[in-house]
Amino acid sequence: MARVYNFSAGPSMLPEEVLRKAASEMLDYEGCGQSVMEMSHRSKEFDKIIKDAEALLRELMNIPDNYQVLFLQGGASAQFSAIPLNFMNGSGKADYIITGQWAKKAFTEAKKYGNAREVASSADKTFSYIPKTTRADFDPDADYVYICMNNTIYGTVYHELPDTGDIPLIADISSCFLSEPMDVTKFAMVYGGAQKNVAPAGLVIAIIRDDMLGKARDITPVMMNYQIMAENHSLYNTPPCYTIYICKLVLEWIKSLGGLEAMKERNEKKAKILYDFLDSSKMFHGTVVPEDRSLMNVPFVTDSDELNAKFIKEATAAGFVNLKGHRTVGGMRASIYNAMPIEGVEKLVAFMKEFEKNNG
Ligand SMILES: *Cc1c(COP(=O)(O)O)cnc(C)c1O
Repeated sequence: MARVYNFSAGPSMLPEEVLRKAASEMLDYEGCGQSVMEMSHRSKEFDKIIKDAEALLRELMNIPDNYQVLFLQGGASAQFSAIPLNFMNGSGKADYIITGQWAKKAFTEAKKYGNAREVASSADKTFSYIPKTTRADFDPDADYVYICMNNTIYGTVYHELPDTGDIPLIADISSCFLSEPMDVTKFAMVYGGAQKNVAPAGLVIAIIRDDMLGKARDITPVMMNYQIMAENHSLYNTPPCYTIYICKLVLEWIKSLGGLEAMKERNEKKAKILYDFLDSSKMFHGTVVPEDRSLMNVPFVTDSDELNAKFIKEATAAGFVNLKGHRTVGGMRASIYNAMPIEGVEKLVAFMKEFEKNNG
């Protein structure tokens, strides 16, 4: 069977080159007579894999030496609890901007541990925009300010970061990880689940500035204590070895294409094809204000639920899968992460044009 174009919000497509390389190394990884799935996480082969993955990530994202790179488990969702446990231990206060469900879930966790405050929200318009803030909106005493950088469900992204002054800024970058260059030094911590843009599910990567470590509450579960994970080079316990190996292959793939500048160019090209069509179509409309549109997740609707359902059904049959939108937005969503080829978006738009012609 031909491979489908998978527009899922996550887990999502992996580059075909990566899958082929992994397949070719499945039974015998570099002459050691076993697969990466089977080998010890303390073996010299795996030690090289995890170190290479970290080095590649540092190179691609230009991560300074005073930041730790941690390979963690529990999904992005586990960090919703780990972040307050590790950092909300000075004033016990933290400021959250609510730009969608993922930010809200993180906020809900933080409220269990201290004085978490909602600074701004775009809930009034179904999270279709990024709320504006100024430095005066933030509590200078807050232990950190928390944002969700790219809002996977609603298709918004911060093109400009909130000005938090000296307050440490923490961002969930799950759905825009490695999609374009980012200035890590603007953040005290960024982190993301790997299953959108980096690797299969099972891995979270956290990038944390050194001065943030060592503040965790005594009750912090050991598996959520970033300092302990850092001291043990992410090998406190058995890490998701195979996922880290695929992560390394994905990082090599990104590097081979020219790094994050090249990824950005490619992603902008893909997104433009889709947004240009949405802006010109009489049937399909984007749901996000143009200035906050994401490069990665593109929600869109028609004016009728029946037409949405018909479109999704026919698109699926034509090999464009997982286009159904999140239930809170309805309609459709095309997630066009790094691994989605340009021709996948071109063919989707051609299909949408044809659908509009036949159903208009
Ligand atoms: C997918 C996603 C999550 C949840 O990730 P899990 O690894 O399933 O916990 C959190 N935040 C964002 C922005 C996401 O896209």
